[in-house]
Amino acid sequence: MNEKESSKSQLYGIMGWPVGHSLSPFLHNAGYRALGLNAHYAVFEVKPDNLGYAVLGARSLGIDGINVTVPHKVAVMDFLDTIDKTAERIGAVNTICVDGDKMIGHNTDGIGFIQMLQKENVSLAGKRVAVLGGGGAARAVAAAAADEKPEQLRIFNRTLEKAEKMAASLSTPELTVTAHPLDDATSLLPECHICVQATSIGLDPASPGPVPLDWVTPDHAVVDLIYNPPTNFLKTAKEKGAKTIGGYGMLVYQAAVAFKLWTGRDAPVDEMWRGGEEAMKRR
Ligand code: NDP
Repeated sequence: MNEKESSKSQLYGIMGWPVGHSLSPFLHNAGYRALGLNAHYAVFEVKPDNLGYAVLGARSLGIDGINVTVPHKVAVMDFLDTIDKTAERIGAVNTICVDGDKMIGHNTDGIGFIQMLQKENVSLAGKRVAVLGGGGAARAVAAAAADEKPEQLRIFNRTLEKAEKMAASLSTPELTVTAHPLDDATSLLPECHICVQATSIGLDPASPGPVPLDWVTPDHAVVDLIYNPPTNFLKTAKEKGAKTIGGYGMLVYQAAVAFKLWTGRDAPVDEMWRGGEEAMKRR
């Protein structure tokens, strides 16, 4: 890159702690290359105590857009000028756009989840949907699912209060979202059509997952937001004949939505998909 080009280049990145494992740079940088954009996506390791300084620094340095990941998705909201409606409803931000001197918080995880299901020809409309988890990912997924007109939306979480708060905030006159302890999942899950695993428990390679899967049949669809490596939970559901979907598509589509918000260009999804896959293979 010559000096003139570099002076015009756009800079994006991700703030998290730890964040060295993130695939996002591989997705976005593959996208910039595919469209010939003079842009770069970097990784910013930001300790929780430094989050406010990091956001101020990004603003001062003229960084063009930032993704936010664990553990900053909620805390970062205090440092932004505006939070868009979707992020407000989810209660977390994963993408910051810069508009002049204003920083605007968005959340693209929910739309990423729905686009992943669309790619897999799975619709939530009229279905009985269960979400396992009460953290940030579960909130994004449940909020997006509630908008798809499911027949039923049940949220199961180890800490019941979190599920109750989510259910109350997502319920509408048309849809009563219900909250349940994770321990009740075994008796209630058989009647659902689609089960979304959105806890972090499967990150432990020895864990079988948050709930037993005896109820699973080929009529069920089971989604696990964890994408690499495939969890035991998803492997078991597959053995039982269910349609199974790992969370890699959600990662790619949430990135694609952020890409469009930042650059104004349709994201080259296939190239971004391949960019992340190649990085996973190298690990
Ligand atoms: P959070 O830390 O916000 O939430 C973690 C959730 O897991 C909580 O509901 C927590 O329950 C539950 N949990 C953790 N340990 C256990 C356990 N031992 N038994 C039962 N429940 C447990 O994480 P996120 O919501 O941000 O992320 C959840 C998962 O989703 C992560 O594994 C992440 O990799 C994945 N993810 C995937 C994305 C994608 O694009 N595919 C995007 C974002 C996340 P409690 O509330 O009781 O503590």
